[in-house]
Amino acid sequence: METEWPFRLVRCKVTFPQHPARAHDLGVFLRLAELMADLGAQDTVLLHTLTTLWMFLPTDKVIGLRDALKPLLDAGFIVGAEVAEAPLCDLSSNIFYRRPDLVQHIVLHPDMPETIPLTHDTPRICELCHVRPSRPAPERDEESGVEEFLCAVCAGFREKSSREGRFNKLGGSWEKENFPVAWVRIALDYDRLWCVLKDLFRRYVKANTDLPDDTIREHVNQLRDAALMVDFTRDYNDLLRHFADALRRDFGDASIEEIAGERPELLVVALKEAGQAFKIVDTFETEFRSVFPLCEDDSPISLSISISNAKYPFFEHWRFLDAPQQANAIRIQAVGRARLELSIPRFRALRNLGLEETKASSKLHNAAAVFARTDSHLLEQVDLLDGIKKFPNLFAATSQGFSVADLLAYHKIAGIGGVL
Ligand SMILES: [Zn+2]
Repeated sequence: METEWPFRLVRCKVTFPQHPARAHDLGVFLRLAELMADLGAQDTVLLHTLTTLWMFLPTDKVIGLRDALKPLLDAGFIVGAEVAEAPLCDLSSNIFYRRPDLVQHIVLHPDMPETIPLTHDTPRICELCHVRPSRPAPERDEESGVEEFLCAVCAGFREKSSREGRFNKLGGSWEKENFPVAWVRIALDYDRLWCVLKDLFRRYVKANTDLPDDTIREHVNQLRDAALMVDFTRDYNDLLRHFADALRRDFGDASIEEIAGERPELLVVALKEAGQAFKIVDTFETEFRSVFPLCEDDSPISLSISISNAKYPFFEHWRFLDAPQQANAIRIQAVGRARLELSIPRFRALRNLGLEETKASSKLHNAAAVFARTDSHLLEQVDLLDGIKKFPNLFAATSQGFSVADLLAYHKIAGIGGVL
């Protein structure tokens, strides 16, 4: 191929305007996973995850950007695209960092009606996406009698999930039996991956050659990493499948719903016993270490878990789960109760302290009870620190730099599970 030909490298983040509320509203993810798999089979697509897509496009407009993304736009998704144009020989994924002056930022929306007719037939805006006119007749929930006005797209997602018999545990028995559920999201951050790949390459060259630092730096800066990113994404997909399979083995099919795709980046797990939230993280950590043993300290892959009862609106969880990657790879929140964010090695260190042991656990429990009584985090922390030296594993934890807030959050999250 002629390497001087100009090409465009496009990286996209796909989002949706819906605020999924009921279990069947998660049909939006079923459709998204299908569309991404279809697009991923095209020659122009370099790699994709559930919400990320990288593609090469010629610049001669034979395939325009909007045309290439048409299936997503037609299905109601919104695509934020960064587009870099350069000769093919110069067009590696690091162009987004190397030549920001060549990068255009574009947001593509689905085609919309120019005006929404306010007649008796189309009385209002869709209650889920707030962007399209609703269908004339409301959707009626047989059990509660609640009526909702939805557009054809949002109603279509709901019907798809229902037709395929999906999410029945989440919307059925788990809600009725009132189990807490843990929404589990794994994500790959390509910005961080680029830094990690550069660092791994630098360390490899340094360990295996006698080259001076200046020369190594030059090699690192010239690293063409698109192929490495594709390889890494393939391994990441393997990790997703291994993780979901391991969770099924640990928890049983009756406790898991995979939300979308062959290699799910989003799952929900019913926590039927105390301690199971951390079991999810243990499983992730084991699988992660077997696939990416060199990436633990600065992982481009994150695990986020958000816990509440099954009825709590999904879009509130999604706000936490889909946040841009934070400093720590492991993030857990129990809505309204506790939040814990740690790197993978720090999480393992905390687990190894054995804080579930009876004496330590009751000390933590008493401190948490002070908060329940006084609503004061300060008094809670003072209570925990009082006489802490008599509790070897708690004292060891503070000596290792874990904050009192971390220990209390750990204790609260560990206690979640079983019927609420
Ligand atoms: Zn809608």
